[in-house]
Amino acid sequence: MSDARGEHVLLGMPTIPHASTVGHLRGDEPFPDAARRELGKPQLRRNLGAATATIRAKRAQVVGEVDDWEHLREAGRAIKAATMARLDEHLERLEREVTARGGTVHWARDAAEANALVTDLVRHTGEREVVKVKSMATQEIGLNEALEQAGITAHETDLAELIVQLAEDKPSHILVPAIHRNRAEIRELFLRTIPDIDATLTDDPRQLAMAARRYLRERFLTARVAISGANFGVAETGTCSVVESEGNGRMCLTLPDTLITVMGIEKVVPTWADLEVFLQLLPRSSTGERMNPYTSTWSGVTPGDGPQDFHLVLLDNGRTAALADEIGRSALHCIRCSACLNVCPVYERTGGHAYGSVYPGPIGAILSPLLTGVEDNASLPYASSLCGACYDVCPVKIDIPSILVHLRAEHVDAQEQAHRVPTGESLLMRAAARAMSAAPRWVRAQAAARAGRLLGGRRGRISSLPFPLSGWTASRDLPVPPRETFRSWWLRERGSDDGRERS
Ligand code: SF4
Repeated sequence: MSDARGEHVLLGMPTIPHASTVGHLRGDEPFPDAARRELGKPQLRRNLGAATATIRAKRAQVVGEVDDWEHLREAGRAIKAATMARLDEHLERLEREVTARGGTVHWARDAAEANALVTDLVRHTGEREVVKVKSMATQEIGLNEALEQAGITAHETDLAELIVQLAEDKPSHILVPAIHRNRAEIRELFLRTIPDIDATLTDDPRQLAMAARRYLRERFLTARVAISGANFGVAETGTCSVVESEGNGRMCLTLPDTLITVMGIEKVVPTWADLEVFLQLLPRSSTGERMNPYTSTWSGVTPGDGPQDFHLVLLDNGRTAALADEIGRSALHCIRCSACLNVCPVYERTGGHAYGSVYPGPIGAILSPLLTGVEDNASLPYASSLCGACYDVCPVKIDIPSILVHLRAEHVDAQEQAHRVPTGESLLMRAAARAMSAAPRWVRAQAAARAGRLLGGRRGRISSLPFPLSGWTASRDLPVPPRETFRSWWLRERGSDDGRERS
């Protein structure tokens, strides 16, 4: 369906085309090149292997305790699908309720608009420093860099985000951004970067946490402005919610005078009853906890209690374009638990930096291309073995493998259109499609393929094929075709080609 300007209109939402500046959604190099580089870091692989194995085991244990886990997952999926179908109504309700409670709502089409909005809001307060709650949305738009350009310093207050910031590094995991660093590395980093730190600091986790605590306490007590994301926005009461494990987020959400929250538009849920489902799914899937340690909720402004100036920035940045994709849109159901990262055999070996985008792992491999347009993140849908482990653990049942295949097809179509001259791969696929579309042709093709047995030699494996098949055998052997096909076996055994057994 199109509106008068020819823009696609879906479910009441005008579609904003993929933004040209999309913050940190796009990597500088294709996934295979970045993965090759990351795989050459043995310490990183050890850290990742140990950390993901621990989180996987914790998750499996606490999920196993819930008898109706599958019903909960289905409820989560259904709520998200129903919410997306009327996203415009829920967002307008959220805006009305926030405004009625003394907050101000802003709408940002893309990263550039959101960054400009937030920068102006901070400037208006006259402050040059802000404290930040861990937030994927603000990482996505590159807010810290935008603030820095405006002369405003943003202090990350989540312990792992602080580690990443002090190291001038990039996060490598949605939930555990410093998962690629071990305790010894963090101790060295703290000694090098935190002023007046105790030189006898060891790599004992408690000592490291206390050192960070002392450093952050000063920031909490002096900051007048805080910036957060939101895990959920409850439309019926205009309530935003942040779930976290350290309590640092709550310091930011309650102590400063001004609070600015940047929330992706897909984070809205209609009611508190809906929120209840996600508050059960999220902690078990993410940190392997039965209940989230710190769940903060706030509705607009409460006189004399907490920030007295509250701004909610509702961010599109490619989300309505993703919503217009009938197969890909369920990627917007993601509640950022990171369970799919922890079970992914590709992520476990390459780590998050290989994905380039701020969203790594299986969800990043679909969400980033959907937000930017597939051609701007074309290598990511291929960063998967399609084993399906991500789908099995996803608390809102996002069928990541199907979306990966859908995005690969989109990329292939785009390439064909762009190059006009078909690639070797596409010629091969066309030939396969033609052979498979008629039984007699398929039988002849199988008979011809049996000649390939000659190439296998004694080992029964083909190690080298001419172009265009040379790409396949460059990194793997091909088993020789079997002596007999299933079809001829069936004919021999059952005497019929149509599935009916011989009487
Ligand atoms: S796709 Fe599913 S499993 Fe992965 S982060 Fe999102 S909600 Fe969690």
